[in-house]
Amino acid sequence: MKEDYYEILGVSKSASAAEIKKAYRKQAIKYHPDKNPGDEKAEEMFKKSAEAYEVLGNEEKRAKYDRFGHSAFEGGFGQGGGMNMDDIFSQFGDIFGSAFGGGGFGGFSGFGGGGQRRVKGSNLRIRVKLTLEEVANGVEKKVKVRRKTVADGVTFKTCTSCHGSGQQTKITNTILGRMQTATTCSTCGGSGQSIDSKPSEADAQGMVQKEETVSIKIPAGVEDGMQLKVGGKGNDAPGNGIAGDLIVAIETIEHETLKREGNNLHYDLYISISEAVLGTSKEIDTVSGKARIKLEAGIQSGKILRLRDKGIKSINGYGTGDLLVHVNVWTPKELNKEQKNFFEKMLKDDNFNPKPEKSDKSFFEKVKDMFA
Ligand SMILES: [Zn+2]
Repeated sequence: MKEDYYEILGVSKSASAAEIKKAYRKQAIKYHPDKNPGDEKAEEMFKKSAEAYEVLGNEEKRAKYDRFGHSAFEGGFGQGGGMNMDDIFSQFGDIFGSAFGGGGFGGFSGFGGGGQRRVKGSNLRIRVKLTLEEVANGVEKKVKVRRKTVADGVTFKTCTSCHGSGQQTKITNTILGRMQTATTCSTCGGSGQSIDSKPSEADAQGMVQKEETVSIKIPAGVEDGMQLKVGGKGNDAPGNGIAGDLIVAIETIEHETLKREGNNLHYDLYISISEAVLGTSKEIDTVSGKARIKLEAGIQSGKILRLRDKGIKSINGYGTGDLLVHVNVWTPKELNKEQKNFFEKMLKDDNFNPKPEKSDKSFFEKVKDMFA
């Protein structure tokens, strides 16, 4: 059974909005994590009061709660602890107004802390160009990256400003009493360590730039403009921090004959009138090399041949697109006398008159089918 919100804040059901606000202020100060480091009960109460105030501090939500109780918010923020710390601290803006002048609660140091924050190195960015074949099948690329790393011979000692905790605590006197806030140590940047000795080529943080070859596995199906993250291949952090990430921006090179549309590929094939009439076989480009396809005698211009699974592999691993070959019959613009005579004769030949069958779908019907 969930506790009653009024009971949590210690107010009566008829309390005014001002009374509720005041009660919550009191609770928030009493149970504030910076005042009760490591106290789980206080943390629990802090969260509960925030949740109660989230409802009772809002006229509309309070009315709902009065009518339906906790069931009014089922599926919303669930069984306690539904609000995270960011939610709670964002509430403080309207509760405490400018009383803390942006400091105070803002410097919340996190629960169950005590351990030192690990500083993260900055990210590096590179651009990788891929051919359509590489996109279709996935590829492993080796790239050279200049990364900041801790120089050989650097030694560290415990930071004298924060004594290794990576944090500095400040006591501030506010209208609500003495508040303790923790901020990142400005001397060591939160790592808890400072440089004892370093070689001359290292910078102030004991870092040097080194070229490193990084292998990047690029999955099949990526698209132009996508970004991949290679964890830990950005700049190293000074001291005992963790390395940043390498962000890889994908750029794709346009293929000469194959056009991508989603995971499908399109290929425009041109054949002569004679080839269309007599049938032929043609070599076409695919993402896995050349392929030969057979065209039946009497094939119509505009026909689309579908080569299953010859497209791009889906990036989430579900299936592969198709290669759609569009057949275009090429009509010569100029004819010699003999050719002209031949086609003039055929004008009178009923066999050359169009007699489309049901299976010879119009262009628009084919397009419709493709998207079905
Ligand atoms: Zn420090």
